[in-house]
Amino acid sequence: MANINFYQSLSSFCLQHEATLVAVSKTKPVSEIEELYAAGQRVFGENRVQELVDKEAQLPKDIDWHLIGHLQTNKVKYIAPFVAMIHSVDSLKLLQEVDKQAAKNDRVVDCLLQFHIAEEETKFGLDWAEAVDLLCSESYASMQHVRVVGLMGMATFTDKEAQVQKEFRQLKTYFDNLKSDYFAEAAYFKEISMGMSGDYELAVGEGSTMIRVGSLLFGGR
Ligand SMILES: *Cc1c(COP(=O)(O)O)cnc(C)c1O
Repeated sequence: MANINFYQSLSSFCLQHEATLVAVSKTKPVSEIEELYAAGQRVFGENRVQELVDKEAQLPKDIDWHLIGHLQTNKVKYIAPFVAMIHSVDSLKLLQEVDKQAAKNDRVVDCLLQFHIAEEETKFGLDWAEAVDLLCSESYASMQHVRVVGLMGMATFTDKEAQVQKEFRQLKTYFDNLKSDYFAEAAYFKEISMGMSGDYELAVGEGSTMIRVGSLLFGGR
């Protein structure tokens, strides 16, 4: 069962801080998503394409579905007809494919560039130079069916708060610098997706505009 009491307090926290709550429903049944939907939640995040496609088909059409997990180029076509935002764009090749598939569906898909901010080697994401290369490419300049609306990052999995805070600050700095260098005129470039169940308050304190919370809403996986 979804934790509706916690959902309500988290929603008002988000309202107060002008942050968007992405309710991360991965591995959870449609019935639990329906509980949060009935309580008013409309933005849900999934990290696997197949699961996202299956759930989208079974749930109301006014849900905004966010893909938050690593995305393989060959799977973009399955979500392009409906996905509201992709948080995990980590290469030009992937963005090109999103642009191509969005064009086929006559859509513009909002995307976040995922940055590597954690100490762990395993996490996906761009570094500064890679992001600049992407944004300066001719290919990016010609894209008409994607809109880069901000950045996403995942902090190191640790209980060292100072470490996590440092990484969130790093992402905020990347955001500020990209905003002034490449998106100065673009009001839509405004999202910083950072913060999960264990660190969302810290993230919002460091400038997050979008938190991705799963286990606190739905219980452990
Ligand atoms: C699972 C997941 C989350 C949510 O994690 P919780 O700790 O359950 O809140 C957030 N972001 C990404 C990318 C995830 O895969």
